Amino acid sequence: MPEETFFRKIINKEIPSDMLYQDDFVTAFRDIAPQAPTHILIIPNKLIPTANDIDIEDEELIGKLYSVAKKLAKQEGIADSGYRLIMNCNKDGGQEVYHIHLHLLGGKPLGKLISAG
Ligand code: AMP
Repeated sequence: MPEETFFRKIINKEIPSDMLYQDDFVTAFRDIAPQAPTHILIIPNKLIPTANDIDIEDEELIGKLYSVAKKLAKQEGIADSGYRLIMNCNKDGGQEVYHIHLHLLGGKPLGKLISAG
């Protein structure tokens, strides 16, 4: 069994977060160390440690992450100006929390790429 991270406690509201959205499948909350004026993490309620662990039966769930991202981008007023959706994978990808999450970043011009580190 993969090991739960503190994101489980955020989902369960056992630790505080600036939660913007939750349903039976997806939770979204503001990143604690924002890299842009809007920086939201969108995560499945189910633990999937990395992008490598996404199974065929998760396809609908992964689609829901993007649907929630789109809704939140509109809510944040950045849908038209634009935004970036990123999922980091493993060490070289810069992943720190092993419960997949989409970063929704926007609110300023982000350039072509986030820094390579
Ligand atoms: P990653 O590096 O892709 O795994 O992203 C992990 C993200 O989680 C980072 O952007 C952190 O700033 C963010 N983070 C860490 N702890 C918290 C927390 N308690 N609440 C919200 N975001 C967090």
